[in-house]
Amino acid sequence: MTHDALPSYLNPDNLGPWGQYLQQIERVTPHLGSLSRWVETLKRPKRILTVDVPIERDDGSIAHFEGYRVQHNLSRGPGKGGVRYHQDVTLSEVMALSAWMTVKNAAVNVPYGGAKGGIRVNPASLSKGELQRLTRRYTSEISLIIGPTKDIPAPDVNTNEQVMAWMMDSYSMIEGNLSTGVVTGKPISLGGSLGRREATGRGVFVMGCEAAVQRGVAIEGARVAVQGFGNVGGVAASMFAEAGAKLVAVQDHTGVVVHEGGLDVKQLHKHVAEAGGVKGFPGAEQTLERDAFWGIESDILIPAALEQQITAENAPRIRTKIVLEGANGPTTPEADDILAGKDVLVVPDVLANAGGVTVSYFEWVQDFSSFFWSEEEINARLTRIMQNAFHAAWAVAQEKKVSLRTATFILACTRVLQAREVRGLYP
Ligand code: NAD
Repeated sequence: MTHDALPSYLNPDNLGPWGQYLQQIERVTPHLGSLSRWVETLKRPKRILTVDVPIERDDGSIAHFEGYRVQHNLSRGPGKGGVRYHQDVTLSEVMALSAWMTVKNAAVNVPYGGAKGGIRVNPASLSKGELQRLTRRYTSEISLIIGPTKDIPAPDVNTNEQVMAWMMDSYSMIEGNLSTGVVTGKPISLGGSLGRREATGRGVFVMGCEAAVQRGVAIEGARVAVQGFGNVGGVAASMFAEAGAKLVAVQDHTGVVVHEGGLDVKQLHKHVAEAGGVKGFPGAEQTLERDAFWGIESDILIPAALEQQITAENAPRIRTKIVLEGANGPTTPEADDILAGKDVLVVPDVLANAGGVTVSYFEWVQDFSSFFWSEEEINARLTRIMQNAFHAAWAVAQEKKVSLRTATFILACTRVLQAREVRGLYP
């Protein structure tokens, strides 16, 4: 099929995040053997729901926001994936994020398909009451397709435990029964799991340690640079610092702070909580323009903000040994090739940040059985799953002489398409 024949949102020349994902699928297809017969399945989301979300503002006016829930693939289980509130949310982005969830869930072998949701809104422009009304109306609009055995949302950028609590409550009211298992990332008091809040950052740290062994980097004294100091980047930064690494630079939406000897992570967390960003942190040796972040020398670089941050434009300036993708889709395929040419090991998002969905899976299992595990047990199981997934992908990368991303896609897409094949087509 020529690309001209494709609808624009399926065209890989359209370099939105969805185009980026399609290019990744092109790279894995030659390795899928007879399963490549089914590969078109991966290039089409199973279900896309676009919703209008109207709310009454505090001043009495009515505002409308566009929201989405995309179920990319449900071959291996119910949909699973976060909900993002951001002013730049697009359908292309939510489609790509849902597809990466399909791959990620299969890569760590949790029994889920892939889904994602989002609303194009700047949540900082809403009061708490408006945010609650937005969340409840969005939940009501997507309640047609979500549910504990259908599709289970979770937090993503700018959504948190409180938002999940509102979603759970709204869904339970609509259904007429308590449905704790409809979302994960809930407060502990509502059936949330110990360790869930830190799980993605913890998983990033575990994967970073595995990658560091392969690259001969000692964590003690390693220079770590992080983009994004939120749920993922902030926790990963703390864990690396606790293990003796030096946090040499942090970039967020407000600026860049640098300290060659290592930023004081606890103080930086305090500053971000008070000031809303890293800008103005008194413990910084230097502050830089945002773009200068990419030229800072490090051993481990962790993009943990948004997609398409490492591009053909800035990849040539990157001086690091390991790129550890905390964010989803932070590296474009062109940048992947440039980094490979510089012998930088890229630990792909679908491995590196899979800790969040892994503990979400634990939360869902605990909710179903109403039997809750200790934090030690959760962290130990998380670490084991992450390490196993890393080693399985590493072995495929060595055997087939492909990048760790393509190796992870080979493992994951094989699992998804095997399920697709054995289920067969309905009717
Ligand atoms: P968050 O809202 O907690 O934090 C986002 C961080 O990114 C903030 O520090 C913000 O300042 C920064 N940021 C936003 N825009 C930026 C920009 N243009 N330039 C630089 N920094 C910017 O979000 P999060 O939950 O930490 O998610 C971050 C990434 O990790 C996203 O790609 C998300 O999809 C991915 N992820 C999150 C989870 C999870 O459990 N929260 C799981 C897997 C993947």
